[in-house]
Amino acid sequence: MRRILSPVALGALALGAVACSGDSSTVATTTTPGQTASAGLDGIQTLLSLRHAGAWRADGVDDIEVWICHVPVDTTAPMYFGLPLRLPLTTAGVVEVLNARVTTYYDTISNGLYHPQFHSGGEANLGISQDPHVCVDQAIIGAEDTADAVLVVADAEHVPGFRGGFGTGGQPCPFEPPCPVLNSRRSAYVGASDFNSVWGAEPPMDLVEHEIGHTLGWAHSGFVDGAQYQSALDLMSNNAAPREIDPARRDGPDTLAINRLLAGWLPESDVWVAPPRGGMVHLEPSTSDGGTRLAFVVLSTGVGNASYLTVEVLSSDGYNAHLPAGGVAVHRVEVTLWEVQANVPLVGAAPFTDLLQPGEFVESDGWRIEALEGGVSITPVP
Ligand SMILES: [Zn+2]
Repeated sequence: MRRILSPVALGALALGAVACSGDSSTVATTTTPGQTASAGLDGIQTLLSLRHAGAWRADGVDDIEVWICHVPVDTTAPMYFGLPLRLPLTTAGVVEVLNARVTTYYDTISNGLYHPQFHSGGEANLGISQDPHVCVDQAIIGAEDTADAVLVVADAEHVPGFRGGFGTGGQPCPFEPPCPVLNSRRSAYVGASDFNSVWGAEPPMDLVEHEIGHTLGWAHSGFVDGAQYQSALDLMSNNAAPREIDPARRDGPDTLAINRLLAGWLPESDVWVAPPRGGMVHLEPSTSDGGTRLAFVVLSTGVGNASYLTVEVLSSDGYNAHLPAGGVAVHRVEVTLWEVQANVPLVGAAPFTDLLQPGEFVESDGWRIEALEGGVSITPVP
């Protein structure tokens, strides 16, 4: 992973006790004709500080070691219990699949800014009652110093009802990032299901892509009324949403603009913050490679704690080709103690794919977001 200038140790934010300096709020935004000038970026300092601390993870080449987790046939761990199948996985075989598809996925959605590169690691073994975190620990301890993260794949599938995997953006880096996985503990794990031979030469990679998203620090979206993974708009919600529409799909959906901002793939100059009286903004699709792509309404803001409405245009193409039509998406984002705790879609009902079309609006938290021909009107509710 290449180094960045003036990094801030992630620890300061992760501990929640030290305020980070963040980036300057004086960056000018480009205003197109008919567009209201942005209110500046003061209200989103918490997000910019999070980006400043964590975007190194999504910058350039990310060396990820792949480990196989061997699960004993007589395991009593509940996620594997009673399932006798053990796949003859090799790190080389898994690496080949990941470098062909997951790398392409992230290359594409980052517009070439992030390049996960998978390498063969080693083999880990579970005891009879141990859960997969034990394999992840073995991989972290055994990984080369050059590894930025580990991905552990079990040779056993999961019992239906158990989540398919997990991932984490890791712990504070004790020195100037990037730091090796032994320090960061950036890691992801998946069960064997997606590597079952029934999938043939092209297994689905959307779950791995989702867990890699966690290693970049991305939080879930689409948790509504206690139900999980309901949104088809984001890799970090229902990552299988495209395949539910088109069985030939093998990748997840694209991700939301706020994750692009946190990853450092969407610069401050492409962000628009609604002034107190509201305004009009022209938004390019958030998956495109330039232009104003993310609008904010600041609902509340403080050091490490904030809430926002985010507004973006999603287009029905690329990894979002499963959407019936492009349109305007609106989410409420809650940040608590320096972590994005909620990212809730506000347009329509699950799976939230009926995006705002010109003439349609949604009202939330005292604001009206209305799609218009050529722009989006974002104003306080009269
Ligand atoms: Zn997840």
